[in-house]
Amino acid sequence: MSSQVKLKTKLLFCIPFFLLVLITTTPSPLLAKDKLRVIFLETQQLEVSLPLHHWNNSDYVPLRQLADLLKCRTYYNSFARKIVLYMGNHRIKITALNPFVVVDELIFQLPVNTNYDDSGIWVPIPSFLELIENYYSGHFEYNPEQETLFIHREGINISQIIVEEKINGTLIRIQTLRKFELPNVATRLSHRWLYVDIYGGRLDTTQVRSNQRIGIVKKIVPLQLEEMTQLSFQLAQDIEKSAISVTNTDHEILVSLRTRHSVPHDLLLDLQKEKKKWLIDKIVIDPGHGGKDPGAIGPSGLYEKDVVLDIAKRLKKLLKKKLHVKVLMTREKDIFVGLRERSAFANRNGAKLFISLHTNANRNRRVKGFSTYCLGVARSDEDREIAQRENAVIKYEDSWAEYGDINTESFILQAIAQNSFNRESQELAALIQKNVKRYLKIEDRGVLQAGFLVLVGTAMPKILVEVGFISNREEERKLRTRSYRQKIAEVIFNSIKEFKERYEEGIVTEAASK
Ligand SMILES: [Zn+2]
Repeated sequence: MSSQVKLKTKLLFCIPFFLLVLITTTPSPLLAKDKLRVIFLETQQLEVSLPLHHWNNSDYVPLRQLADLLKCRTYYNSFARKIVLYMGNHRIKITALNPFVVVDELIFQLPVNTNYDDSGIWVPIPSFLELIENYYSGHFEYNPEQETLFIHREGINISQIIVEEKINGTLIRIQTLRKFELPNVATRLSHRWLYVDIYGGRLDTTQVRSNQRIGIVKKIVPLQLEEMTQLSFQLAQDIEKSAISVTNTDHEILVSLRTRHSVPHDLLLDLQKEKKKWLIDKIVIDPGHGGKDPGAIGPSGLYEKDVVLDIAKRLKKLLKKKLHVKVLMTREKDIFVGLRERSAFANRNGAKLFISLHTNANRNRRVKGFSTYCLGVARSDEDREIAQRENAVIKYEDSWAEYGDINTESFILQAIAQNSFNRESQELAALIQKNVKRYLKIEDRGVLQAGFLVLVGTAMPKILVEVGFISNREEERKLRTRSYRQKIAEVIFNSIKEFKERYEEGIVTEAASK
């Protein structure tokens, strides 16, 4: 018995040792580490880099990092030291220390072996790129002297195709980089195949994954023609021409296929009601502080309450004029309003969105930047302090005892546990910060979270925007100017507009999938 055990362990010990020897001795030594500049020539130019190794007069790049850059999925079998690279419908198999590459069922030979180290498999360039170019929706140009790889992808305007199963059918979402007008989208049905022709379309075919059945779509075959992209969808059942409808947004072409087993009529009515319920048709803007509560005060005496009221008015004007939604404000003048009153006001009026506006402050006057907060547990002492400062307003309120002991945070934690619309709030916050980065020349502090009382109890997507540090001289100076306040209002407006489009569209599809 004991000798048997001994033998087994010996054997087990032997295998890894043998492998270790194999791995450490066979790969060619990778010498001269270097960096390859990779420049994407798309609608915008983007520069990144890849590690570059030289060996035996050949240049090598790490395959998995290359795949990430090209946004291709990979599957790595570390034991067999093989990588499968998925490009559109093609499977490209690469083996370590081997010149043979298998694409689907075809075998190709590279002029030299692939290489291998701890990080995985390295492939020789440009030969490997020349091979995969046949399956990639772009063109590679390698300049060995400058150690630069140019990837030409001009003109791609269809980025991805997503199929979703819904209760009343199947939804095909064709994601686009620009808006395609509906006359340029044609659909045709023939023998359980649905053809969608998109005139002027240029598809990134590497992003189409298609052999998986979702809803009634069994297979997708993408085809890039001279003047259009043609997508063919093989269907699992017959559908009527009248069951197909096509709609578009700025970034999507939506093809919905209603299947025969449709939802009962009353459920559809419910969905319509639900849709109406979630249309963002009423927005509450909450300019922080007011009256006896000035909020934070800048080094040269600018009041937070005045800055945020002015931005709120500008935002209201934009929303009313351009989005045609109803806009209410928790205060229109320089008056004091309690925190609980603010959220109650939004609830009472059936608001669909709650935007609280504040300016930030810090003892350290160098701190600056723009951040958007959602309700949540603060992740840093700094965020906790900011929430405490904004919550401190209740000391001005006569009924502050109603709030209980907020210093224990138990009250806020309880509210956070019931936090509704957190996902939507996070999304709106992210949109605002994205636009801040793009349009305001100001530090982007990102989407943060903390226990703001004013966000507690509002039953709708809700955020608190800290539009800058009034305690910072430079930002205080900017916040004084009308033009900068207008810019801030526009950034928030554009984000709300984008959110509204996504949200209303999302709710429809989400409600339909329940
Ligand atoms: Zn404030």
